[in-house]
Amino acid sequence: MKKQKGKLLQVAHLGHPILRKKSKEISDTKNFEIQTLIDDLIATVLEVDGVGISAPQVYQSIRIFILASHPNPRYPHAPKMKPAAIINPKVLDMSKRKIKDWEGCLSIPELRGLIPRSKSVDVEFMTRDGKKVRKTFTDFVARIFQHEYDHLEGKLFIDRVESSLDLISEKEFQKIIKKSKK
Ligand SMILES: [Zn+2]
Repeated sequence: MKKQKGKLLQVAHLGHPILRKKSKEISDTKNFEIQTLIDDLIATVLEVDGVGISAPQVYQSIRIFILASHPNPRYPHAPKMKPAAIINPKVLDMSKRKIKDWEGCLSIPELRGLIPRSKSVDVEFMTRDGKKVRKTFTDFVARIFQHEYDHLEGKLFIDRVESSLDLISEKEFQKIIKKSKK
């Protein structure tokens, strides 16, 4: 793997109260500490084969997350994108059409859930350069966006599961995706 400039951060696990807090808006995105945090979040999410990570997961209750979809052993079918910092996001609209698919979370190791999410989301956020942008994300990236946005609200994927039968172990999940590749 390519060397990232950030350092690896500790990830908070299910049960830590910071994961259940609503996080705060950021006023100065160009601040050195924010920029360093973004580099560290990107380095951390890539190191652990994640496709997204939020600031509350590294014990910072502020409204930032990283979208970093790329194929890896945990998500072999993820589309590739350049990791992007999403700051102070707002959801403007989400499609009524929902799709159920498997999700995991770096804060809930060894568990996967079949989670319904909107197929597309219209959103507004600030980039790490302080630019305000509006975008529509669809399918898997829309799913990551909704999952990470939930973290900023103190919500976790297990809150959205329709049935406890939709929760499985990482080991069983790996068997399912191996079968789906054939
Ligand atoms: Zn998560």
